Amino acid sequence: MRAETITPGTITRETIDPVQAPDTIDTDSGDHDRFAHYCKKADIVRALVTGEAITALCGKKWVPSRDPSRYPICPTCVERKAAGWTL
Ligand SMILES: [Zn+2]
Repeated sequence: MRAETITPGTITRETIDPVQAPDTIDTDSGDHDRFAHYCKKADIVRALVTGEAITALCGKKWVPSRDPSRYPICPTCVERKAAGWTL
């Protein structure tokens, strides 16, 4: 028996690890859409402190923003996570 209750609008992703980091850089190559990427939470925390770039599951490197903006999740990150990739 499965008893799953999913209420639209209240789904959280807090249990996902690696976590999503919003890609907010707009001075990169300028030829990509903005996505949220899966990254190590520790890397994100460090990047917010040091300003260092982090690497997402899809291989993208950028400096994440502190702003909790909502972006669509990077499809490459989703595919790799589903395939069992880890950082
Ligand atoms: Zn990605």
